[in-house]
Amino acid sequence: MGVRIAVLDRSVCIEKKCGYVCMKVCPPNRMGEECIYIEEGGVFPVISEELCIGCGLCVKKCPVSCIEIINLAHELEDPIFQYGINTFRLYRLPLPREGSAVALVGKNGIGKSTALKLLAGQLSPNFAIFDRKISEEDFEKKLRPEWRRFLGQKRKVSIKPQNIERIRSFKGTVRQLLSQTGVSEEAIALFSLNPILEREVSALSGGELQRVALAVCYGRDADIYYIDEPTNYLDIGERLRTAIIMKSLTEKGDVLFVEHDLTVLDYVSDYVYVFYGEENTYGVVSGIKNTRNGINEYLAGYLKDENVRFRDHDLKFSSFSEVERTSKILYSYPALEKTLSSFAFKSEEGEIREGEVVGIVGKNALGKTLFLNELKSIFNASVSHKPQYLSPKEVLVKEYLEGGRAGVVEECKRAFRLQPIMEKRMDELSGGQLQRVEITKALSREADIYLLDEPSAFLDIEQRFELARLLKKAIGEKCAFVVDHDIVLIDNISSRLIVFTGESSVQGRASAPMDKREGMSAFLKSVDITMRRDKESRRPRINKPGSRLDREQRESGDYYAF
Ligand code: ADP
Ligand code: MG
Repeated sequence: MGVRIAVLDRSVCIEKKCGYVCMKVCPPNRMGEECIYIEEGGVFPVISEELCIGCGLCVKKCPVSCIEIINLAHELEDPIFQYGINTFRLYRLPLPREGSAVALVGKNGIGKSTALKLLAGQLSPNFAIFDRKISEEDFEKKLRPEWRRFLGQKRKVSIKPQNIERIRSFKGTVRQLLSQTGVSEEAIALFSLNPILEREVSALSGGELQRVALAVCYGRDADIYYIDEPTNYLDIGERLRTAIIMKSLTEKGDVLFVEHDLTVLDYVSDYVYVFYGEENTYGVVSGIKNTRNGINEYLAGYLKDENVRFRDHDLKFSSFSEVERTSKILYSYPALEKTLSSFAFKSEEGEIREGEVVGIVGKNALGKTLFLNELKSIFNASVSHKPQYLSPKEVLVKEYLEGGRAGVVEECKRAFRLQPIMEKRMDELSGGQLQRVEITKALSREADIYLLDEPSAFLDIEQRFELARLLKKAIGEKCAFVVDHDIVLIDNISSRLIVFTGESSVQGRASAPMDKREGMSAFLKSVDITMRRDKESRRPRINKPGSRLDREQRESGDYYAF
């Protein structure tokens, strides 16, 4: 018999308001068994995985879709950790490698952060045992020797948590925070913190806060560095620099990190563990793989050594789409010039064509958002805009999405797996959930021009691929401008590029839409990094500074080699 996993999301469950439909429809319950029951003194239904027959009736009948039942095809060993009864559980563990950077790859809600916390000692293995104390014997029986050895040793660890917002509660300036944690001058310089040393920590932007968190983590002397999602909020230039710093960190200690930006992931990691399973339900850690195989197997949705298919399709890179360059010009805009109190902005004139996506790249605070807003007022056309900063209203997701183009909404719902959150309120969603709903909203509006400002923020790798596909499909013969910091995504969706250069918060310049290769090259030159396109996978990859390719491309001025 296979294993059954039952998860009930208590943040969605409406308890007795539905009259406990799940209990009423459950066939074992109707036979007098207690398969779904209310715990003594509790209000939430509890599902017994031993008695559950996996019929899925409760899943179907639950009015708010808060139940997930998974029938595993093959037996798995006991989980290493489970948060509580009927909640997410993690099978197996990744391990760091001496002198190497190891990446954890997988979609959101699959247990990557949980695994980091277990290794760092912030969580302890409980083997899904809730009714008694965990004994030494459990550890011996249920942990592989290498895991037991690792967890049993004392080490100095340094952690960059995924959720950095908590740092904001620090009362004081960046300088005070850094001096309390003993961060070196070197780390302060590496993450360009000198200009913000006197600022209040609570008032930092997301990107600034991330750099502070990274400097604190980097600045500590440790045997192992655990770095969870380092590039959230960072602009392209900062990402690439962070990648190079993280790679060099392996000289100080072992590195274990989680990352969704493929360019960064590919460059920093020596090895990869793939996490698969069912988001928010269970996660399984693969064996260790070298980076190339790991990423390719992840994209393919098939793990060779394990002989596991965990996705029915592969994530493909479209070879770039330059076809639109010959299509009809839809809209033109004049050269723009705008001076705000302390910021000066200039843009060359340009145009956009039928079916075209123009990508917009550049550092933070160069006027990209300003530019989108200008376009909005120039074009005599209907515009659908997904802003960079999202401010959710107190409405249900399903209400928010009403009235959009039905086909697009349906397709987005499927691809972005929105069904489980349709009954949630917008202001209760996680960052990634909110982003997916807002993208759905923007793409489903009837419009002539689509403007998307940083749509990949908080999305995992799979969702970024889905985004590319959905965008192409939704705009059809219309057109879009997309600002983003993920090079793989931008490369994937755009036919031409607008490159922003200048000095952040002082002056910014936007180029005319340029040929993609030329634009990328100009951009990479401005951040002083060279890249090449992988011959086989066609993926853009960072060249190691000082390597032969890096030197050759610098000399020839071709910062983005095809
Ligand atoms: P990832 O880092 O891969 O996105 P996480 O390890 O953060 O995934 O989460 C895996 C699952 O565990 C998610 O469904 C998450 O909601 C759940 N989870 C995380 N922390 C808790 C907790 N304290 N209690 C219950 N469930 C949790
Ligand atoms: Mg995480």
